[in-house]
Amino acid sequence: MSYLTLENLSKSFKDDKVISNLNAKIDKGEFFVVFGPSGSGKTVLLRLLSGIMLLDNGEIEMNSQVINEFQPEERDISMAFQNFALYPHMKAYDNIASPLRANNKNIPDDEIDQKVKEVASLLKIEHVLTQFPKELSNGQKQRTSLARSLISKPSVVLLDDPLRNVDAKIRFEMRLELPRVLKEFNTTVIYVTQDFREAMALGDKIAVLYDGKFNDIDTPKNIYLNPSSLTTAKLFGDPTINNFTASVKKEGNLLFVDADGEKFKLKRKTNIQDCRCIVGIRPEDIILSNEPSDESIEVEFRTKTPLNLRIVFLVKLKSGLELLCSMTEEESRLINENNKLYISFLDERSYFFDVETKRNLE
Ligand code: ADP
Ligand code: MG
Repeated sequence: MSYLTLENLSKSFKDDKVISNLNAKIDKGEFFVVFGPSGSGKTVLLRLLSGIMLLDNGEIEMNSQVINEFQPEERDISMAFQNFALYPHMKAYDNIASPLRANNKNIPDDEIDQKVKEVASLLKIEHVLTQFPKELSNGQKQRTSLARSLISKPSVVLLDDPLRNVDAKIRFEMRLELPRVLKEFNTTVIYVTQDFREAMALGDKIAVLYDGKFNDIDTPKNIYLNPSSLTTAKLFGDPTINNFTASVKKEGNLLFVDADGEKFKLKRKTNIQDCRCIVGIRPEDIILSNEPSDESIEVEFRTKTPLNLRIVFLVKLKSGLELLCSMTEEESRLINENNKLYISFLDERSYFFDVETKRNLE
């Protein structure tokens, strides 16, 4: 039995269907990442779950109870925001303590004090508790905001792109640290991001949000290796997956690809039929070399550029088809783009999508 069940959730603003028939089952203690492009409805979804925005249709069930009609404060769900949303007139300490003081909970001061210190220690912000938000760095603001969302030990915590506005170093540290901190609270986490690397680093499961619904819900590895569609495949990769229309004929473990005159073979165990389809090959699954090999194709160098600690080459095949290949900086130093260049494809690392629907054919 799942702990949190989302069934056919829908939300429109006038004619704009932002969420439509969205479904998911989330287990207790799971780190569930919602990943989708900007404007796909991630923040709206979290608002619907927290109760600060109302659903048009559908059911949210938590711990075997339908909570649609519950007020936000009755839901045992807390939320931290992308823009921190700290009270500017309150010190970090009081910001963190605020959920415990809300709604006449009558929690004694020494108990509040103990809890604030405990959560501040976990998030390593004990030394800034007496400061006001404007005196804090963005990293400290984000930790304060997280501490506030965790202090009442909610069953479910919603984190809306919490690392978006912190610098790269802090983001990297927090990616390593967050799962550990959140495990201490034994809470179910729904974590929103539009960075596929972050989604893959943090998620037990990733739900891919676009067109108003979750198009894939699976482990990071399964989504990367077996995306449901070209759209999902494109979202998991930077640079994005190469894709081109081709006729594909199968002979045993070999696929004979004809991409408008450009003919080559891919080694691939697959159940797809001979067809015309969209072939997808990730830039990191293409090997670039100055040496020809049995199955390599000669290509022309176009340009190269560094991207996220890797080097990306753009090369052109005889037919005019252009492909991106990505490699480590070290590998790129072995390549002289003024000499002849050849590409070959890694075995088993290609994808096939329907020309019309863009669905994965496997
Ligand atoms: P994301 O967080 O994935 O970037 P949002 O959830 O903020 O996207 O927004 C999804 C869509 O819903 C956007 O097109 C946005 O303009 C629209 N939207 C969000 N909130 C409202 C609102 N209160 N009224 C009207 N449209 C809204
Ligand atoms: Mg948002």
